[in-house]
Amino acid sequence: MLTTGKVLLAVANERNFAVPAFNISDYAMFNGIVDISEEKNAPLFIGIHPDEVRHIGVDVIAAMTQRAHRSSVPIAIHWDHGATYQEMLTAIRIGFTSVMIDASMQSFEENIALSRKVADTAHAVGLSVEAELGTIGKTDGEAEDGSDAIIYTDPADAVTFVRETGVDSLAVAIGTYHGIYPKTLKPELKLDLLKEIKDRVRIPLVLHGGSGNPDEEIAQSVKLGINKINISSDIKLAYHMKMREVLADEGLREPLSIQPPCIDAMKAVAGQKIDLFEAAGKASLY
Ligand SMILES: [Zn+2]
Repeated sequence: MLTTGKVLLAVANERNFAVPAFNISDYAMFNGIVDISEEKNAPLFIGIHPDEVRHIGVDVIAAMTQRAHRSSVPIAIHWDHGATYQEMLTAIRIGFTSVMIDASMQSFEENIALSRKVADTAHAVGLSVEAELGTIGKTDGEAEDGSDAIIYTDPADAVTFVRETGVDSLAVAIGTYHGIYPKTLKPELKLDLLKEIKDRVRIPLVLHGGSGNPDEEIAQSVKLGINKINISSDIKLAYHMKMREVLADEGLREPLSIQPPCIDAMKAVAGQKIDLFEAAGKASLY
């Protein structure tokens, strides 16, 4: 069924697992992600970044919410990295059931002011809000957002931020980067920092840039209170690596010949993530 981010995260926070948020900007990929979530009986966020919305067009969102309504698993359609209040209003109007406001590149005070305004409006229509404090890194030009250097989330600031804004979940910077890690950059999470933040704020925490981190660290982060993990690069890489292989056959032309093996490769990676996040089987809790 179609549901809100708030509903998905409340159960995940109580039962100590993480709901995957897979970013897609293609309808066939969307279907593949819903299929694997249904096969795994796992709750799901479909993450769509404003740039991705521009790519697929706003009308596709209605088709996605229809599929979500018919699904055997709970699904929220999530606006990933909204940058302005106006953008968030658009997201709500076109059918998103969960929104993120990311003012993390602004000053602490500006971040609080905008996140509070978004939260007040979203709450008025029954939706929850994710905000971000600290900045997540960015490995290359293909990565969606972030800064070259990580600014780690300060636990005391996190307490103030959550109290002042009323946001429902918080994306924290604990060592992840958006994009794929180059060989020179070793992914490493500050798990002690995560534990301290979670002990103090208690609300669902979100990990962005979850592609490419060692499985053990991700599993630990779930145990320590991460309840939503955004995966974009890893599934898209699997899809397009396979597509490069398939397209070696120059006789192929039809999307229905080319795409299915790529969708299968993407589903295999998504399935591993669902298991790693302890989300498999959890749809029955809703
Ligand atoms: Zn992100």
